[in-house]
Amino acid sequence: MKKSCTIKLIPPHARSAFTFKLGLPHFVAIFLIIAAVLVGAFALLERKAIADRIRLKKIEAYNRILEEKIRLRNEEKKEMALLAGNKYNELHQKLARKEQEINIIWKTIGKEPRTIQSRPNQIKTSRGSADPLKIKRDFKRLGEIIENKDNELDKLKEAALSYAEEMRQGLIKSRIREIPQGYPCNGYISSGFGYRNDPFYYGSEFHQGVDIVEYYGAPIYAAGDGVVKDTGYMGGYGYSIEIDHRNGYTTFYAHLCDILVRPGQRIKAGEKIGIMGCSGAATGAHLHYEVRHDGIARNPQKFLDGADDLIAKVKKYGRL
Ligand SMILES: [Zn+2]
Repeated sequence: MKKSCTIKLIPPHARSAFTFKLGLPHFVAIFLIIAAVLVGAFALLERKAIADRIRLKKIEAYNRILEEKIRLRNEEKKEMALLAGNKYNELHQKLARKEQEINIIWKTIGKEPRTIQSRPNQIKTSRGSADPLKIKRDFKRLGEIIENKDNELDKLKEAALSYAEEMRQGLIKSRIREIPQGYPCNGYISSGFGYRNDPFYYGSEFHQGVDIVEYYGAPIYAAGDGVVKDTGYMGGYGYSIEIDHRNGYTTFYAHLCDILVRPGQRIKAGEKIGIMGCSGAATGAHLHYEVRHDGIARNPQKFLDGADDLIAKVKKYGRL
């Protein structure tokens, strides 16, 4: 007998069932086909599931990368802000040093040259902010201020140098004017510096100055800038004036008939200070003129001739 299989399909609520009667080979064939279809379907589903899992993993990996990127970016921003802060500190310190330097020069000069502009406005910095645009903007402004300061400093240094040179030249001129130089009056020398026969007593005496003869009433001029140290009637010298020219130098004018200055008065070189006379121990109208250094009478001839060596010294060294 031939083996066979019967398959009955009974639909719900149905009165009769569908009946398939199949021979075993057919049944096996159909079973295998169904099994193959099922296996194929599972395989397809599994493949799709694998693909989905791979995609998910990819998305997860991408998300992780994105997160890492965001984290790095934030860190970078923080670092940037920190660096910006440090850089700002550095620039502000630089600015402070420049301000200090400028102030020192101002103080040295003691006045504000007209060429220098007033101080620029202070800027507000966004230290700690991580907005790159704002940081860039602030840096630009700070950079500009520092550049302005540099320019100001350069101008100031130039001004200070020229001012210092001006001061030096002015000082040299005033020091030169203080040196007793030239004749304090017109006339001729009747008696020089040194030992000579005493005009009043027999024997010799040391003549501390020179005698210059002109007419009674001739004007007497200061030999250099200075301050009147003493005036008055001084025994044998008669009416006399002593002028202090600083640096230890003084000049002395004697036998005057009139004194036109008073002690403490500032005197310019060439200023009229007295009138030639013959007061004191004088045989006729003349000026007894002395140049003293540290209180000791020096030969006035060098000073009458222009004191060139002293002037050259002041020009060279700026002082005596
Ligand atoms: Zn004399």
